[in-house]
This record gives sequence, structure tokens and C-alpha cells, in this order.
Amino acid sequence: MKRTVLLIFTLFIAIQSFGQAKYVFLFIGDGTGANMVNYTEFYKGAMEGKVGISPLIFSTFPVCNVATTFQYQGKVTDSAASGTAIACGKKTSNGALGVGPEGERYTSIAETAAKNGKKVGIMSNVEINHATPGAFFGHQKSRGNADQLIADMLADNFDFYGGCGIMKSNNYKTDVFEDCKNAGYTVCRNNDDFKAGYQNASKILFIPDKEHAVKDAIDRQNMKPGESICISDFVSSAIQFFMKDNCKQGFFIMCEGGIIDHLNHGNDAAGAVREVIDLDEAVRIAYEFYLQHPKETAIIVTADHDTGGPGVEVNPETIVNLQYQKHSIGKMTALLKEKMKEKGKEPLSWDEVASFLSEEMGMWSKFKVSENDEKYLKEIYEKTIAKNETGNVTDEYGYNHNAEIVAKAAQMVARNCGFKYTTGGHTAAYVPVFYIGPKPEIFSVKMDNSFFYNKIAEIARYK
Ligand SMILES: [Zn+2]
Repeated sequence: MKRTVLLIFTLFIAIQSFGQAKYVFLFIGDGTGANMVNYTEFYKGAMEGKVGISPLIFSTFPVCNVATTFQYQGKVTDSAASGTAIACGKKTSNGALGVGPEGERYTSIAETAAKNGKKVGIMSNVEINHATPGAFFGHQKSRGNADQLIADMLADNFDFYGGCGIMKSNNYKTDVFEDCKNAGYTVCRNNDDFKAGYQNASKILFIPDKEHAVKDAIDRQNMKPGESICISDFVSSAIQFFMKDNCKQGFFIMCEGGIIDHLNHGNDAAGAVREVIDLDEAVRIAYEFYLQHPKETAIIVTADHDTGGPGVEVNPETIVNLQYQKHSIGKMTALLKEKMKEKGKEPLSWDEVASFLSEEMGMWSKFKVSENDEKYLKEIYEKTIAKNETGNVTDEYGYNHNAEIVAKAAQMVARNCGFKYTTGGHTAAYVPVFYIGPKPEIFSVKMDNSFFYNKIAEIARYK
């Protein structure tokens, strides 16, 4: 009799957990609309000598769909409103995090996961209290309330936080890392710290030090793994940390590729393409985990909104020219400034600037530059560098303050490579949704970003 009861009970538990996503990964490419993904695959294809595209790992997932992203009044969203919609399942106004337009408190899927006993990890390659990660623990009417977001982060008490840094205002007088330590976090500043500390840690805050600072993917092409911390480091660390005691309860991990948006604001196509590939590398780690736990793992990859509104006009012969851009526009601006400083009072000559652009982007040396394009760049040179000025180009979000000649040259090269930005802001274009995991039919209808909360709760059986 006892054995029958036990058998029935075991069977009941087995049926209960069948098709349940015990391990959930949610990846958000900030500012990564459908065309950004599409173009990255064309670039990969061209670089691998293939006709058409070479797929990113996440685009091979069995479900591929689209989502709308508008904020609560139907306007183009920012990352705070969209992050909130994804995290909390409810729309809000731009700038608001984890609260409604009137300030009413929402609950995030990460908070629900924690309430259901799951381990929770929130990570991004921008600051941990930036808009997208902040939407999973923050409850602020303004995304700019950095100090309050730190308090929200510690109040939610999640198991793993990772980011390039922590934003704080001048009013924040205490040492933020000490505050986190006092809240029970083991603070890791690089991979060695993590390896040394994770076994005995109960909660982890992973924020790299200066020597291991997060860099744009395009700017760390020649670096060794771990030299500049990236989202792959965060994802693999979080998995290792959660699985050290088998993680019977399961986990929820949100990982943001936040730099994609910043580079798209600056219309830095070559940089943004590398960031999408970098996001795909982080997804690869989750996918390898999925292969070990295929029945219990769900991976969702989506974006909070499109940035830059790129049009894609691919020519396989020219798209490969994008590979010659060695650094992000921001880094190139810094390098150009150094050159100007070295030269002293006398401005750089056109020839010197042209050889800089040739060295940094392959212009003239690797591919032809049309007469018109050269004329246009010379005009910018005359009104800026010839007067010993950089002529800063700034986007409305303030992420980029780039030298005009570098910014315009990079846009020009990208256009000739078939990637044409229509704006430096966000658009309402569809974002892609890729899914692998239990109950794929749940993700098989066109979505709105406010659907994710319920969909994740359903596949993971959160109450
Ligand atoms: Zn943005």
C-alpha cells in the first residue's frame, strides 16, 4: 500500500514538473530591432564566404516571432518603459521603472521568481542600475533616481547582480561596495575574484575593476578572455554560482546586451554588429546549459525596442568592408583627440586625418571612397579639425560625444556597406522574439512586450 502511494506521489510530481521551465534565461538586446539582427547575420554570412546569411545561435531557435514595444500611450518607448513592460507585464510612461504612470508599484517577473523560491540573477554590460536591469528590481518614477535604485536593488536582495558599474549621484556619500558587502554580497571585481569567492558566497555582486573594465566588443578584439569582463563572463559565473549546490529550486536569469543601444544611438554600425555577436556568445552559454537540461530550460531572446531604424541594403561585396573598422566611434574619437594633442597648436593636416581614417576604418587603403564622399569629409575637416576642433556630435540621450569627422565617416562606410540608419533615436519597429524551451506554442503568436510576464510565469509555473 505504502509503495503504491509513493508511486502515485512520484508520478504526480513528475507530471507536475513535465514541461516546466525550471531554468529560465531572458536575454534582452537593448535597441536591437529585427533589422539589426538581420544585418548582423548578413555580415556574418559575408565574412564566412556564404551566400546570404550565417545564423546567430539564437535565430536557430524553434520559435521566431515579433513583438511590439510602444509605451502606455502608444508612443515610441524608451528602455525604462519597455523594460518595465517586459519585466512587469504592464505598460508605463517613458522614464518610469517598475511603477505605473501614476507611480503605482508593479511586480517584476524576477521578484515573482524569487517569491517562488528561484535563484535570481540580473546582469548587463551597462550599469546594473541602468534602465533595463533596473526594471527587474527598481520601483522609481524616474530611471534617473540612481541612488534609490541601489536601495531597490539591495531591497530585492537577488542572488546575483552583474554590471559594468553602479551609477550614483553626488549625494551618495557612502562606499557603494561597502554597502553591498554589508547587505551580504560577496563583491567580485574580476574572474579570479569570482573563482576564489563563489563557493563560500551566499550572494554575488560582480562589478569589474578598472583593470578588467567592460569594453565595447569591437574595442576588445585583441584582448584575452577575462581581460575585459563581458556578459558571457556574467552568464557563466551566474550559472556556476547557482549550480554549485545543484539548484534544485531552479533559477531566473536576465541578461542584457546594453551597449548595442548606445552604439546605435551613435550610428556606429560596425560596433553594434560586434555587440550583437557578443550577445549571441552569451546566449551560447545558456544554450549549452539548455543542451544539458533540455526539458527544464527555457531561453527567450528579445529586445526592448529598435534603435536607429536601420534600413538594410546588403551587397555581399561591400558588406565585408565593415570589418576594417578597428574601434568604436567613441574610441576612435579618443584616438583622434590624442593625435591632435600630440600635434600641439598646429592642426592636423587633411592627409594626416585621411591616413587616420584609412588606418582605423580601411578607407582608401582597403576600399575606394567616392569623390563625393571624400569632398563631404573634407568639408567637415575644414570646419572642425582644420580649426583644431573635434566638432562633437552628441545624441539626444547623451551616450555619444563623438568627433564629427569620425562619426560621419563611420556612417558613410556603414551606408556603403548597406546599413542605413534613419535616426539616432528609438523607433517603433518590431523587435524579434526567439524562443527555445517547453510549450513553444505559447510564444507562437505575435506579441506585445507586456506579454512576457505572463508567458514566463506560465512556462516556469510561477504562482
Ligand atoms: Zn536607447
